Amino acid sequence: MKAAKNDLSERLTLEQKASLTSGATTWTSVGIEGCVDSMHMSDGPYGLRYQGVEGDSLGIASSVPATCFPPAAGLASTWDRDMVGRVGAALGQEARSLGVSMLLGPGLNIKRSPLGGRNFEYPSEDPYLAGQFGVAFVKGVQSQGVSAVPKHFAANNQETDRFRVDARIDERTFREIYLPAFEQTVKQARPWALMCSYNKVNGEYASQNRRLLTDILRKQWGFDGVVVSDWGAVNDRAAALAAGLDMEMPPSGTDERIVEAVRQGGCPQEALNATVDRISLLADRTQAVRAEARPDMDVDAHDELARQAAREALVLLKNDGVLPLNREASCHVAVIGELAHTPRYQGGGSSHVTATHVSNLLDGLRQDMPLADVSFAPGYVVDGTVSDASMLSTAVDTAKQADVAIVCVGYLEGDESEGMDKKSIDLAEDQRAVLEAVLKTGVPVIVVVSGGGVMRIGDWGERCNALLEGWLLGQNGGLATADVISGLCSPSGRLSETIPNSLDDTPSRLHFPGSNGVVDYGEGLYVGYRYYDTLRWEVAYPFGFGLSYTTFEYSDFKVSTTGDTQARVTFTVTNTGSCHGADVPQIYVSNGLPDRPVHELKGFERVELDPGQSAEVSIDLRFRAFAVWDVLQNRWRVYPGDYRIELAHSSRDVVQSLPVTLHGDGYAAILEPMSTIGEWMDSPYGMQVIKPLVDGVAKVLGGSNPSPELHEMFRQMPLIKLVSWGVGLSEQDVDHMVDQAERLRQSGEKKKTEA
Ligand code: BGC
Repeated sequence: MKAAKNDLSERLTLEQKASLTSGATTWTSVGIEGCVDSMHMSDGPYGLRYQGVEGDSLGIASSVPATCFPPAAGLASTWDRDMVGRVGAALGQEARSLGVSMLLGPGLNIKRSPLGGRNFEYPSEDPYLAGQFGVAFVKGVQSQGVSAVPKHFAANNQETDRFRVDARIDERTFREIYLPAFEQTVKQARPWALMCSYNKVNGEYASQNRRLLTDILRKQWGFDGVVVSDWGAVNDRAAALAAGLDMEMPPSGTDERIVEAVRQGGCPQEALNATVDRISLLADRTQAVRAEARPDMDVDAHDELARQAAREALVLLKNDGVLPLNREASCHVAVIGELAHTPRYQGGGSSHVTATHVSNLLDGLRQDMPLADVSFAPGYVVDGTVSDASMLSTAVDTAKQADVAIVCVGYLEGDESEGMDKKSIDLAEDQRAVLEAVLKTGVPVIVVVSGGGVMRIGDWGERCNALLEGWLLGQNGGLATADVISGLCSPSGRLSETIPNSLDDTPSRLHFPGSNGVVDYGEGLYVGYRYYDTLRWEVAYPFGFGLSYTTFEYSDFKVSTTGDTQARVTFTVTNTGSCHGADVPQIYVSNGLPDRPVHELKGFERVELDPGQSAEVSIDLRFRAFAVWDVLQNRWRVYPGDYRIELAHSSRDVVQSLPVTLHGDGYAAILEPMSTIGEWMDSPYGMQVIKPLVDGVAKVLGGSNPSPELHEMFRQMPLIKLVSWGVGLSEQDVDHMVDQAERLRQSGEKKKTEA
């Protein structure tokens, strides 16, 4: 009989409680007979890497076969919440069929630089898109009774020095860019567990960062789950527990340190008890995984789902009409590039999956286009050896005999993996040589680029006839790419990250990956398109971009307020082309405040339509769509004023924009001696208090009509500075005014709440 949860802390000995704060093995938590079940955990974010109870955390040892779905870079490019949820649910089922209670994913870190070594595991450069991905994914996994474990919390945006680096981020940037994906996921999908990162955040290891794990995560966001460490992220057991970390993984065999710390007052007993309760709650929440029969996973159904997800993930960047190929024609298609035969479909490291089956583009084309003559030449090698010069000439000869050539290029296995950042985003020299040579033949060329993150598109991008961003698409990416090329489906993916013209153009260029143990997030809010669009910087392909085989038009765009801090957007999307397809209309908000990105994504919807068909779309823009982090007041604010709402095909293709005026949150700031006269005047409470002073000073400045410059100078001045201005104001007067304003503010805010 299991002990009642609320007396668990009393029934267990200190040693038993301490034992729960670290794992039993590399992949299991500690169980205590009759009290708390042991739970099995497994990577990872796009497929199960189940290794039994031991194994390794770096993807080196083998794991049982599982479906390899498209990694997040691709899956997020679907912009399809439903698809992300279905993949999450399938992962949950596979976990459950193996008795795994906790699935270590999704990865939700922001892509700060295209050099990020784990970018393939992360959804986007944009926090809203990344958050929507996290919400759908976690709901999907947990619908199966399995705990999702969003990771790596927080500011783990590089692999270089990942165990120690101190990510220095200003508060506004942290709140607005690096935390929201986790915040949305925690608040809207309620994950039962979460994984902290290795790095430091503003001077303190994430694993022992009280502000992060307790103040923000639990108190502000209401997280009630278990925080597990990244594998090996704990440096000080007692400090970590006191800060809010529940479980050290894998176990370091130092539980006696927790016992000692509690005995000697270095870690509060209550912190340990709270951890015990949380672990016990997690065991309850995932109880069905261990208690009920484990249905086998449906290998074929999941393989098919992986294919559908990959189809939606592909982004068509360019098409002069060569695509789709004609499935009914007996044409000659040359497929060039070893990646068409040996696909890159996943990245390296802890997320590495032993796939149940892998399809490649070559076989996919032969299957989808039975009448076509599909020939192949590898062109280059992918095994790390040097490409042989004769491969290039064979590739050219193969292309010359064809009606169309498909050239597959991309990052290779050794280019992107956990544990290392990229050095370059350029196409490898041997691959570029093959591509250039095929382009010179004059045969129409379709280029497919593979990689877990964006690659620089050289001028070959202008000379090819069509270009597909092929990400890492999971085990059935080969078939899915053939489906798109042969027109079995229309491409509908949209870029979840900008493709810059060069690495030198990227916003974090001067601050990535840092040095001397520190990385300064010096570009602030200006990550990805927030930077390029604000500076009107040319990019190769913008965030949110993606073509289709059909066309879409928007009409009846309307915006109306639905409250002081929110609005509703409605519009109609029509498929004006000649085939079935899906569009992703995007909503950006521009708040016109100084020192802000020119606009930010705040809504989107994926809509599937037949030719001629229309759909009405309604998107609610709530408080956070307009809110910015107020560093002085340490809170989210929606300021009163005019906002612009943009309906767009991509961050650079705004179809229509409309103004909307919001009253704002009505929050009156707390005033201090150093608050400026302008801040005092803008506050209804402050103005009541300083009105006589303002009138007096106005007279001194120029009667009832001071010049605008003087007026502005006066507004910029902190109240306390007037003491030395000879207007008869003392420090005591200022203190008194601060007290008065605060009393008025508190009673005013109370009345608002009561009303
Ligand atoms: C990775 C995590 C992973 C863990 C367990 C770590 O190296 O950073 O993402 O879940 O290992 O394999």
